[in-house]
Amino acid sequence: MIINLRGVRGSIPVPGKDTIKYGGNTTCIEITTDEGDKIIIDGGSGIRQLGNELMKQLPVNCSIFITHTHWDHIQGLPFFIPLFVPGNNIDIYGSFDPVYMKDLKTILAQQMEYCYFPVRESELNANITYNNLKEGEAIQVGSATVTPLLINHPVLNFGYKVESNGKRFFFTGDYEPPLNIYLPEDEGYIEYQRLIDQQKQILTNFIQDVDVVVADCQYTREEYLTKKGWGHGTHDSCIEMARAANIGTLYFTHHDPTRTDQELDRIYQEVMSREDLPSTEFYIAKEGTIIEL
Ligand SMILES: [Zn+2]
Ligand SMILES: [Zn+2]
Repeated sequence: MIINLRGVRGSIPVPGKDTIKYGGNTTCIEITTDEGDKIIIDGGSGIRQLGNELMKQLPVNCSIFITHTHWDHIQGLPFFIPLFVPGNNIDIYGSFDPVYMKDLKTILAQQMEYCYFPVRESELNANITYNNLKEGEAIQVGSATVTPLLINHPVLNFGYKVESNGKRFFFTGDYEPPLNIYLPEDEGYIEYQRLIDQQKQILTNFIQDVDVVVADCQYTREEYLTKKGWGHGTHDSCIEMARAANIGTLYFTHHDPTRTDQELDRIYQEVMSREDLPSTEFYIAKEGTIIEL
């Protein structure tokens, strides 16, 4: 399969001279299987240009998997032109929101209400299916199997594992390793820590020996001290994930919108100079990076 990183920025698109090298578009990953099936993970602003390219060959048949419905993961969908064109077949997958009791279609339609957008969801003329996924429910897209795993974020967030012809890829979506809300001297500390360790082990087992992981790494270890509970990972959390699961290659993604190209390079150099790194190859995710598996 071929993986194309179409958007690697977190929170909000940041075009401009300081983000030319790594890109300013928000999250979108395009996966093409060996047989040509098209899987798209997340509809951040990076999906707009992908849509324009897909329109060159009609009909467009693709499956879009949404990790979660924070703006930076869905804000490009109203600009994904294949959705408007009759004859295209687009299957959209994501989670039901049990807190606000909304399904995926409702959330996406609300993003297209008149107060936000001039065209209504009902005017999307492609053949669209909306599918609320359950954790662990594997979806077959051609030769590829896509399996969601719930991992920690302020809203339900699916990490997706994509397996095809013996190759395996995993994207975390937005992920902060769970934190113990108790102090070590508190009564609930040990029990809570046991739950956290269980959750981490489930993730480790799920991605054991995966070839390529793209992982949320919005903050440095220094920044994280004041951003605990905001739902994002650090270089340290990505490195630990890679070490525990024996990951081949890991791309740091979901770059903070304040991060310039220069800063990304500087931070990467600092992280790579550490002495206790596992054998995983680490890279900074860059818009337009193409990974062949
Ligand atoms: Zn995000
Ligand atoms: Zn998020």
